[in-house]
Amino acid sequence: MADFCNHCVERVFPGEKPDIDVYAIFKELKPGYLQQVLCEGCGMFAIVKTEDKELKVIYANETKSNLEVNNGGNLELRLKLVDYV
Ligand SMILES: [Zn+2]
Repeated sequence: MADFCNHCVERVFPGEKPDIDVYAIFKELKPGYLQQVLCEGCGMFAIVKTEDKELKVIYANETKSNLEVNNGGNLELRLKLVDYV
């Protein structure tokens, strides 16, 4: 079962409800907190409620290959905090 966020579900199944409702998750978050989710369309990202109660998302780009990580390296993620638009 594939899970899609609000944007991706519109692209793949227009009119369907998202499995990952970013806005609903945002509403439940306390300011200064984030929740990590895994969307089939955009991959792993985090929904952020800033201290100012703004909705942001963090997308992560892996900077090491899975092979390196499996060989004992730490997974390094390059983070980008952006608006969910
Ligand atoms: Zn998505």
